[in-house]
Amino acid sequence: MKQYDVVVVGGGIHGAGVLQAAAAAGHSTLLIERLGLASGTSSRSSKLIHGGLRYLESGQFALVRESLRERAIHLRIAAELVELKPFFIPVYRDTRRRPWQLKLGLWMYALLGGFDASTRFGAVPKREWPSLDGLKTQGLEAVIRYHDAQTDDALLTRAVVQSALSLGAELAMPASFTRATLTEDAVAVVYDQNGSSMECTARVLVNAAGPWAPHVGSAIQPAIPIPDVDLVQGAHIVLPFPVTAGIYYVESPTDGRAVFVMPWHGATLIGTTETPYRGEPDKVHPLPEEEEYLLAVARHYFPGFGHLTREHITQRFAGLRVLPAATQAAFDRSRETIFTADREPKPRVLGIYGGKLTGWRAAAAHVLERISVSLPARPRRAATDQLILRRPL
Ligand SMILES: Cc1cc2nc3c(=O)[nH]c(=O)nc-3n(C[C@H](O)[C@H](O)[C@H](O)COP(=O)(O)OP(=O)(O)OC[C@H]3O[C@@H](n4cnc5c(N)ncnc54)[C@H](O)[C@@H]3O)c2cc1C
Repeated sequence: MKQYDVVVVGGGIHGAGVLQAAAAAGHSTLLIERLGLASGTSSRSSKLIHGGLRYLESGQFALVRESLRERAIHLRIAAELVELKPFFIPVYRDTRRRPWQLKLGLWMYALLGGFDASTRFGAVPKREWPSLDGLKTQGLEAVIRYHDAQTDDALLTRAVVQSALSLGAELAMPASFTRATLTEDAVAVVYDQNGSSMECTARVLVNAAGPWAPHVGSAIQPAIPIPDVDLVQGAHIVLPFPVTAGIYYVESPTDGRAVFVMPWHGATLIGTTETPYRGEPDKVHPLPEEEEYLLAVARHYFPGFGHLTREHITQRFAGLRVLPAATQAAFDRSRETIFTADREPKPRVLGIYGGKLTGWRAAAAHVLERISVSLPARPRRAATDQLILRRPL
C-alpha cells in the first residue's frame, strides 16, 4: 500500500495550495479530486484577489492586512494570471456611503497595504466620467477610484496544482474519497478511481473539500469534530455587453448590498447574491430571483443595459460560501478561514472550512505549520512565495 506524508481531499484552490505547500516542504503528497480541478467553488467566485475593502466596516483588519499582503505576492509570482485593475465606486445623492467615508476606508486600506503604489486612490475628475462605460450620471456626485486585482480562479487553481506536480506531488483525478480510518500515527484512506477501490496511508489527511467538507469529515472513523457551518449561495450572471474601463463596486438598488460589475472575457460579469442554502452542494444553481436582483443592478447603474432581461444572460453560475453558523446576515459574518484538527498536538486530520480565494497561500502555509509536528523532517524544495505560477497549458 502506498504511503504518503500528506493526502489532500479536494482540488479547489485550498487543496491545490496545501498540495503545493506540502510538496515545497519536501513531503510526499497526493491530491484526490472527484471531478476536475476547480470544479467546485473555485471556478464560481467573483474572481477577485483583493484585500476586501468592505471587511473594514466589520473590523476584520487582520484579514484585510493578510489579504493585501497576499495580493502583493500574487502580483509578483502570478503576473500571468492576476492583474491589478481600477475599481470605481460611484456615489449618488442617495448612496449610503459618502465620499469622505469611502476615502477614510481607502486610506485605512492603503495603510494596511503598506502604502505601496497599488494602494493609491482618488476621485475620477468629472470630465472623465464619459469614459466610464455609460455609467448613470444623473444624481452622480463623485466617482472614487482605487485598485484591486482580478484573476481567473479556475486557471489559478490549475496553475498551483501544476506547480505542485512539478515539485513531485501526485494527483488522483477523477477519484472520490470514500472513507478513512484513524490509527495512532496515521490515516488509512480509501478512495474510488476508475471503478476500483484504492487504498493508501497518510501521516496527515487534509480535508479541503469546500462545501463538501462536512460530508468528507463525517466519513472518518473514529468520529472527529466538525465545525458548525452554514452554506450561503452566491450567484453570478454574464451579460453579452462589455464594460471595459474597470470594475464597478456599487450598492444594490434593492437592498444596498455591495455588488461588482466586472469586465470578463469581452462581456460583463455581475455578482453576487447571498441566499441561505440547505440542499446538496452538487445541486446549487442561480435562482430566477437572484438573476433578477443582479439584472436590476445592471439596469439601475448602466442605462445602456436598461432593456436587458433574463433572456440576455449568456452564462450563469452559483457557488457556496462556507460560513460559521450564526443568525446574523451572511454579509456581516466573518470571512476568516476555520481550521479544525482531530486532536492536538499531533493532528492526523486537518479540515479547512470557508476562507477566500485570495488567502489560499497563507491558508496552506498555516496548515503546514499546524501539521508539521505530525510529519517527518524532510529537506525543503522551495518556498511558495517564490514559486512563479504560470498560465496552465
Ligand atoms: C459567490 C462567491 C464569490 C466569491 N468571490 C471571491 C472573490 O472574489 N475573492 C476571494 O478571494 N474569494 C472569493 N470567494 C471565496 C472563494 O471562492 C472560496 O473560499 C474558495 O474557492 C474555496 O475553495 P476550496 O478549495 O475550499 O473549495 P472548492 O473550490 O469548493 O473545492 C472543493 C473540491 O472538493 C472536491 N470534492 C468534494 N468531495 C470530494 C470527495 N469525496 N473526493 C474528492 N474530492 C471531493 C470538489 O469536487 C471540489 O473540487 C467567493 C466565494 C463564493 C461562493
